[in-house]
Amino acid sequence: TAASGGGLVAYADSAAESAPEPSQNAPKKKVLVLGTGWAGTSFLKNLDCSQYEVKVISPRNYFAFTPLLPSVTCGTVEPRSIIEPIRRMFEKKSKDVTFYEAECFKIDASKKTVHCRSAVGTNLDGNGDFLLDYDYLVVALGATVNTFNTPGVLEHCHFLKEVEDAQKIRRSVIDCFEKASLPNISEEEKRKTLHFVVIGGGPTGVEFAAELHDFLVEDLVKLYPAIQEFVKITIIQSGEHILNMFDERIAAFAEEKFQRDGIEVATGFRVVRVSDDLITMKSKSVGEEVSVPYGLAVWSAGIGTRPVIMDFMQQIGQTNRRALATNEWLRVRECESVYAIGDCATVSQRKIMDDISMVFKMADKDNSGTLTLKEIYDVLEDICLRYPQVELYMKSMHMLDIADLIKGAIGDAHKESMVVNIEEFKKALSHVDSQVKSAPATAQVASQQGNYLAECFNKMDKCKEQPEGPLRMTGGSGRHFFRPFRYKHLGQFAPLGGEQAAAELPGDWVSMGHSTQWLWYSVYASKQVSWRTRVLVVSDWTRRFVFGRDSSR
Ligand code: FAD
Ligand code: MG
Ligand code: MG
Ligand code: MG
Ligand code: MG
Repeated sequence: TAASGGGLVAYADSAAESAPEPSQNAPKKKVLVLGTGWAGTSFLKNLDCSQYEVKVISPRNYFAFTPLLPSVTCGTVEPRSIIEPIRRMFEKKSKDVTFYEAECFKIDASKKTVHCRSAVGTNLDGNGDFLLDYDYLVVALGATVNTFNTPGVLEHCHFLKEVEDAQKIRRSVIDCFEKASLPNISEEEKRKTLHFVVIGGGPTGVEFAAELHDFLVEDLVKLYPAIQEFVKITIIQSGEHILNMFDERIAAFAEEKFQRDGIEVATGFRVVRVSDDLITMKSKSVGEEVSVPYGLAVWSAGIGTRPVIMDFMQQIGQTNRRALATNEWLRVRECESVYAIGDCATVSQRKIMDDISMVFKMADKDNSGTLTLKEIYDVLEDICLRYPQVELYMKSMHMLDIADLIKGAIGDAHKESMVVNIEEFKKALSHVDSQVKSAPATAQVASQQGNYLAECFNKMDKCKEQPEGPLRMTGGSGRHFFRPFRYKHLGQFAPLGGEQAAAELPGDWVSMGHSTQWLWYSVYASKQVSWRTRVLVVSDWTRRFVFGRDSSR
């Protein structure tokens, strides 16, 4: 195993045998899970539910496979194919897991309770509210849309966050085509009605625009030949490029493809106002305002914080934040027994410079006041586990070895001996914390966090303490604890329409074109949460290939 007895980090596994058996008659601890999205379901799937009394609440009694939501907007995939009922997902665990279809509207961490409201009406007394208590709370509530308080957006724009949103978009697109086909519609109004605007050039906005374009050229032009010349798709992006979270090559490929397809990409514009028929945007460079008439607008410009999370952050003194801050073991900072995973949370990584004297002392086994290269190597693995930024920094500077980092600090004078004092050690590591990165708000991160936290919970008995337990570096000795959460990026796809996709794969690999689209099909089929949805999704794709998309509303 990776256990390193005398190191800075000890592992739960190494202590497993010595832990006492949990007492048989002690009541099971109550675990309350809020949310059944990527994070919540991944936690539940991996949790040994027989160890706990598990309760789950969510206002939707299903899990939605969000990466296929853009495909639902144009009927490429049916909504039913991308959702899986929660009760079916946890059928085998139904003895230990209780689900309530309800919304949580207040978390009270001081009383260890959560206030819930039924999503399916009230009881005979007219009461739909109830209170649940917990020993451990897992907050996996996801995020909401962010309008940045832009006037008119809530009233006039579509969003693409839930299954209902995608269904609404699908109906509205068809409505626009039917409306523009009516006999008493002027040419100008046809142009306006068939102007589809996507606000936000991130992966979701881009994928939706690409889907819509495919729907137009593959299906609608045949069905509505008279109005095809009036159709236009525009993407408005405030940054310089669309897909700016991807490799530059992917952004360039996407922009070129969209130009060929006739999708207009307006970069450097910020939408300032939306009315029922005009979108007003401001050029970032010139500062000038332009208004464009539109038929349908989809707002996909960013994610925001849910009110219940906002309220909870206020209670625990985490103000002016977008997401709940957790420690590296996913426990909410300054809050006992509450864990947060997925889009509603961010890990706030501890800085190595804050602990530098302690790290130095731990590494200096012979108390000589200096570190030899060997002393550093002995603890390097533990340092990189606790402070992943060290490894990231060395990688970003193309350093193969920590010795390169040390050389920079001690200069050429005593290069041979390679012995550093505390000042030189500080100097060597002084820029490392600049590499602290927060993980993106993606399904990949959410499900890895759910999986990780479940593992912690499964071993909690054996660890006696908290799942994360205190680090030996920061206090108590001889206690056991877990390796901190670490996100492993497995790559990311950007479907661009016309059976083409771009992908960023591990190891700086970029792949684009038709073969990448086939990779996309196989990856997304394999990622389905059940055989039922896998069969449905694949048959939807097949049906679309053979018969085209359904254009009835
Ligand atoms: P969610 O999955 O949003 O789950 C939140 C859960 O909380 C839901 O079950 C919800 O019903 C429930 N809930 C909400 N409010 C309450 C309440 N008050 N009380 C109780 N329960 C509540 N990521 C990728 O990695 N790859 C992709 O290709 C990709 N494509 C995407 C496409 C679209 C259109 C969208 C919208 C997102 C996409 N994402 C993708 C991002 C991904 O969906 C999110 O990062 C992921 O869903 C986050 O998981 P979560 O569990 O934190 O939140
Ligand atoms: Mg969730
Ligand atoms: Mg989800
Ligand atoms: Mg997050
Ligand atoms: Mg020494």
